[in-house]
Amino acid sequence: MGLCMQGSYQTLLEHQRRAWLLGSAAALLAWDQETQMPPGAGDVRAEQLAQLAELQHQRITDPRVADWLAACAGDASVQADPERSANVRLWRLDHARATKLPGSLVHALAELESKAQQAWATARSKDDFRRFQPWLERMVALQQQKADCLRTGTQSRWDALADLYEPGMTAAQLRELFGPLRTRLVALRQHLGTGQAPDDRFSRVVIDQAAQEVFVRAVANAMGFDGKLGRLDRSAHPFCTRVGADVRLTTRFHRDRVLDALGSTMHEAGHGLYEQGLELGNLGTPLGEAVSLGIHESQSRLWENHVGRSAAFWRWCWPQAQQHLGRACDGHDAEGIYRAANLVRPSLIRVEADEATYDLHIMVRFELEQALLDGSLAVAELPYHWNRLYRDYLGIAVPDDRNGCLQDVHWSCGLFGYFPTYTLGNLYAAQFAAAADRELGGLARQFENGQFAPLREWLRRQIHRHGRLYEPAELCLRVTGQPLSSQPFLQHLESKLGRVYGLG
Ligand code: ZN
Repeated sequence: MGLCMQGSYQTLLEHQRRAWLLGSAAALLAWDQETQMPPGAGDVRAEQLAQLAELQHQRITDPRVADWLAACAGDASVQADPERSANVRLWRLDHARATKLPGSLVHALAELESKAQQAWATARSKDDFRRFQPWLERMVALQQQKADCLRTGTQSRWDALADLYEPGMTAAQLRELFGPLRTRLVALRQHLGTGQAPDDRFSRVVIDQAAQEVFVRAVANAMGFDGKLGRLDRSAHPFCTRVGADVRLTTRFHRDRVLDALGSTMHEAGHGLYEQGLELGNLGTPLGEAVSLGIHESQSRLWENHVGRSAAFWRWCWPQAQQHLGRACDGHDAEGIYRAANLVRPSLIRVEADEATYDLHIMVRFELEQALLDGSLAVAELPYHWNRLYRDYLGIAVPDDRNGCLQDVHWSCGLFGYFPTYTLGNLYAAQFAAAADRELGGLARQFENGQFAPLREWLRRQIHRHGRLYEPAELCLRVTGQPLSSQPFLQHLESKLGRVYGLG
């Protein structure tokens, strides 16, 4: 009997691992689409991705999975093992969710995601929203269908989709967090206006891109990103993805924006360290996956902002910059670059936003995507309302759709309910950084000596290695002793930026 039950876990594990292998092959095709693929190959690539998504979905929803799950639930040896029982619990959750979606919808979505993304890129380059509008209308319709399949009881469409990215989080909880956060961020922006803005000339110095690349690679190495199980390439929009055992990062270079290249690289390497911190032996199971996108983003933002925008980091980094960037550094110093990296200026583009205004960009998208999903906002009206909210929240006028509602790839890829995970990431990052600082006895002294291993290993121990064992809210409580709050984030910003702006 026991042996037979043991067999069910093993059979289930092998079955799920084969499904995961299909997904990892799709991840490689998607990575290639963004980094290498010639433009004429797009239609067939969409078919390839749709085919793999459908096969993976067939495996995950195989009727035998329910039998194996039931056998595992009745097996005391599986239940007594915390790791195996967690995998079974999470496989059951994933199976229940996947069986709510018809294979035809999964196929249609995967194909549309690939094609709409390419249509978005063209529309954006031509600044032509009307060209993208039919694709987005079709995408919204399919997302509504998907949400209607997934949602339970009175759950809203937005909540049903958001749960895929941030388990347990709802729009109501987010509104409670976002309301006071918005008030304090707007007040902070106004307060900084009375101070001394940093000189940010270094951000615009022209520097050879090859030199920039050597510099940012040196920083990613110092962070501990493992080149034996990872790569760093270039793409128009930086991202990080896992392809089987290895982790792919991309970054971007402009001749006159070295701080952007550095920030993007540290951000993506922070994601990469999370992926590399998962146990290799758990790959293909829930314990080998990141718990949520909010927690994922906390890792990237922690390295990008709490490390890369700190005074201590720049005391270590400045000699590295001088070594790799040469004469471009003449006339600047560590303190000046630290201040330049912390300039606050409301801007049009989310990915270029400073730490103090970034979350206002997210709040705009959070409002709009809820309205698109519940049907109260027509796609045709999107540019008008986007521009209105940018005026209200950021106080700036949007000159065109390229710099407005066409700037982000997410909705074209079918990512609805996703944007708020960026703000959650900022909040989690600040709370984790404060806890690490307490426990490790002062991170600043370590950073100025180039010692990043204690922080990296602390994150691995506290967060990475658990995979999906704990839900985000529980993980936050275990790591920091407190539920998620915007307080550590606001304290971090108000004290750092107050000093940078000479306001005490
Ligand atoms: Zn990120």
